[in-house]
Amino acid sequence: MNCTKCKTKAVIGLPRHNAAFCKGCFNSFVHEQVARAIKSEWMFGKDERILVAVSGGKDSLALWDILLKMGYRADALYVNLGIGTYSEQSYAKVMKFADAVAISHGAKLHLHTVEQEAGAGIKELAMLIHRPTCSTCGTIKRYQFNRVAIEQQYDVMATGHNLDDEAARLLGNVLHWQEEYLDKQSPSLPASVEGFAKKVKPLFRLSERELAAYAVLNRIDYIVEECPMAKGSKMLQYKEVLNRLETESPGTKQTFYLGFLDKQSKKQPAATTMTEKDRAVLHPCASCSQPTTADICSYCKMMARAKAHAAS
Ligand code: SF4
Ligand SMILES: [Zn+2]
Ligand SMILES: [Zn+2]
Repeated sequence: MNCTKCKTKAVIGLPRHNAAFCKGCFNSFVHEQVARAIKSEWMFGKDERILVAVSGGKDSLALWDILLKMGYRADALYVNLGIGTYSEQSYAKVMKFADAVAISHGAKLHLHTVEQEAGAGIKELAMLIHRPTCSTCGTIKRYQFNRVAIEQQYDVMATGHNLDDEAARLLGNVLHWQEEYLDKQSPSLPASVEGFAKKVKPLFRLSERELAAYAVLNRIDYIVEECPMAKGSKMLQYKEVLNRLETESPGTKQTFYLGFLDKQSKKQPAATTMTEKDRAVLHPCASCSQPTTADICSYCKMMARAKAHAAS
């Protein structure tokens, strides 16, 4: 198998593009896909400061690597969830990568440790406050990501969600006809109110397999295991179904998700992801000042309950 572009020996075949690439041409392909995503969704410019959410997995570390190599000003935030060996290993991978890019690009890593603030790791915290672990985790990550972006004056927050993630999420939303979520499934969500940072997903055109290949070819040392709490989740089931379809008909995920984006862009401008109703009811949390629809935001309520349990 030879590279479609330069005809030297190919290292990866991409059936959905009917192409094969050598390492150099594959890296160019990945960078081109990211550049296309940034441009088409008006994500950010070369002068803007980007905060990347990193987990130690291939997608987020690849995203940080790609943005820096493309000449963007990207720092990162890692939230240590305190999930035993998984968190220890992912933390080690993030630190190793962060040390390298601090030297090569002057990039900076911000850290937040759940246990330090909540007095317990994510699993124990979720049990204490009687909430599912993943929803507790989601609230904490969203909150900390937004807090660091606003406090440190980043222009935009970027996550490593890839084509597989977005197609699986879309399948879930369609299966349950969650129209409100469908309207918010854009890879670029503007900073709709003061106190909320803009959020983007520059890897939405690249598949999980392509990002794993990018990480391996570029010697990015990442944690291969998924978070243990993801086991049996609906998202993994949707991904399996889509993978089966993709094997039979290469390009299915791309047609599904990019087709949806195309239809959405014709339906409404990307900037109207927050409804007038949402905007009208948002105001600063009485405790932390982040935007919320209640007097106290859900993160502050969660922390107050955790502290009350710890004191009792
Ligand atoms: S699977 Fe792990 S990282 Fe993902 S939301 Fe659940 S606890 Fe958080
Ligand atoms: Zn080539
Ligand atoms: Zn608050």
